[in-house]
Amino acid sequence: MKFDFIPSKALIDQRAIYDNFKLVQNLHPKKKIFVAVKADAYGHGVREVCAPVIKAGAAGFCVAYVDEAREIRGFGFNNLILVLGASEAKSAAIAQKEDISLTAPSLAWLQEVVKYLDSTNPNKLKVHLAIDSGMGRIGMTRIEELEQAFQFVQDNSDKIELEGMFTHFATADADDEYYHEQQKRFKLLAKGFKQKVKYLHCENSASSLLEEDDDFTNSLRLGVALYGISPFIKPQKLEQKFKPVLSLESQISFIKKVSKGTKISYGATYTAPQDEYIATVSIGYADGWLRRMQGFNLLVEGEFCPIVGRVTMDQLMIKVSKCYSIGTKVTLIGNSGSKKISAEEAADFAKTIPYEILTTISRRVPRIAV
Ligand code: PLP
Repeated sequence: MKFDFIPSKALIDQRAIYDNFKLVQNLHPKKKIFVAVKADAYGHGVREVCAPVIKAGAAGFCVAYVDEAREIRGFGFNNLILVLGASEAKSAAIAQKEDISLTAPSLAWLQEVVKYLDSTNPNKLKVHLAIDSGMGRIGMTRIEELEQAFQFVQDNSDKIELEGMFTHFATADADDEYYHEQQKRFKLLAKGFKQKVKYLHCENSASSLLEEDDDFTNSLRLGVALYGISPFIKPQKLEQKFKPVLSLESQISFIKKVSKGTKISYGATYTAPQDEYIATVSIGYADGWLRRMQGFNLLVEGEFCPIVGRVTMDQLMIKVSKCYSIGTKVTLIGNSGSKKISAEEAADFAKTIPYEILTTISRRVPRIAV
């Protein structure tokens, strides 16, 4: 799609990506870091994110689907790419060809996948065995199954190579008892395999910030903190040095002075309480700015301006204090004058998490590296 006449844009601060990465690398100097760039790099644009993290020293990438991994291979990055989800068995043939590592969520999955592999290909399919230590999503829960999966990989070593083993935490963002139980369970299940896999990993952003560098695992998966977003339910001091990476901006496309009693937008849910200026902004829920953001304050020249009336598919209205010119910048996430709106604030308002706010920004919004 061409973006010549789309006034909204997501500005991606590549320096901030680099610096955020370095903060985690300094906390875990012994570990290889795989950066989670699934869902178009958490909405930041995968191309815009891959380059600075590789420069900063990332060992590889994590995605959700083989197709996302292929996109990255298409950019010419030869680093490890791990697909975190339970991939369709058929996709293993592509993964083998393009040197994409897959998650093995069960012994049954390995038994199915092997049917699609080519023993004449010098590339073997690289797999990471998933341990479900309490997330309840994918992975093996019993040591017997892990041992059988390990044996199965040995028996099919002409086609499959065991590259890693990992688990995922359900509550590291809250640093609670359950998180510590999961850690214990992972250690119990993984300890026998520690020397047998190249990469053993469990940490996400929250646990990377909470835990000191240790020798049990040798790699970690970094997601939301890379993007300068707090991984914690209740923000803590730990992440204050991280810089937000994404700013979301649009423009005023129309402005009018309305008289007291004028109704605004679908459902006529807003009635002007007095004569006032109403500006129309070229962004809506089809761009990812959720309909439930009605009432949230946006920034125009350092001044907070509330969204009045319903957010529509492509446009929304804000109440402003003066007759701004057409084309005036409107900040939805980011800085304006001395004020700022964070993705966390937008998420709190929408009763969701910043991950959702960011990944919802649609393809119609160009990502521009700055
Ligand atoms: N590992 C797995 C398996 C994930 O699903 C995710 C994110 O959803 C991550 C790592 C990265 O987590 P975070 O963004 O909290 O760092």
